[in-house]
Amino acid sequence: MAGLTPRQAGGFVTRFAPSPTGPLHLGHAYSALLAHDMARAAGGRFLLRMEDTDSERSKETYEAQILDDLEWLGIVWDGPLHRQSCHIAAYNQRLTPLEARGLLYPCGCSRGDIRAALAAPQEGVPHLTYPGTCRGRDMASRQPSDALRLNLAAALDQIAPPCFSETGPAHRGEHIVDREQSLSQIGDVVLSRKGENIVAYFLASALDDADHGITHVIRGEDLFEFTPVQVLLQKLLGLPTPIYHHHRLIRDEHGKRLAKRDDARALSKFRTEGATPQNIREMVGL
Ligand code: GLU
Repeated sequence: MAGLTPRQAGGFVTRFAPSPTGPLHLGHAYSALLAHDMARAAGGRFLLRMEDTDSERSKETYEAQILDDLEWLGIVWDGPLHRQSCHIAAYNQRLTPLEARGLLYPCGCSRGDIRAALAAPQEGVPHLTYPGTCRGRDMASRQPSDALRLNLAAALDQIAPPCFSETGPAHRGEHIVDREQSLSQIGDVVLSRKGENIVAYFLASALDDADHGITHVIRGEDLFEFTPVQVLLQKLLGLPTPIYHHHRLIRDEHGKRLAKRDDARALSKFRTEGATPQNIREMVGL
């Protein structure tokens, strides 16, 4: 509960937001348990959200396994599960004010590039900063297969530099979104892709955090670098910004962070071998 004031603790709402693109491993277990423990300690709420907007990589079998693993860990979520894939049209509608402010442009660049930008950031996969090839295009030229990108420089010009509070161990403190760093490290992110009726992780996650009244986003440190663009989107759309808590990552014996495809550390494997939820807590240092 480090970093929380009594005022914040009164209305504490957090969430666990897995992408059902693989089985949960020890790193996810740590994230879910930490968020759950912090919510319960604060007398707050813990919500569960399935970030399944990547229709190609999300699988129902993974979702079923995730829910089963969470229940096994003793995690009880408040309210119904929010499945992002059921709300795609609503997310896309929220882009209207950004379009009206001239902050979006259509982009027909390669699918591989776009998919990399659309997917929830994956551990170990570097994020590609878009080179801006289509930035000069106007919305009227949008083709059915085009994605929509945020013109990040224009967005940063329209508002005062957004800021956010971080309570996680590595970056604790107040952060002002740095223009040059955002432009070079994040760039013009994809927000949606019309032809496939897909909305990007950045947008859906930022909207859900605001709409669900999330006061504290508790998630892995690998997502810290994407926080500025989410905070920027919240500011542009007049939405509240939560407090962020990026926690340490669970690493393997070589110091490498765990990946979805790292089946050796899948929770299901430990379960099959007879581990108890308490064993898992001890393994992740809780
Ligand atoms: N869906 C993301 C993931 O599984 C987490 C996003 C978040 O917590 O904001 O990595």
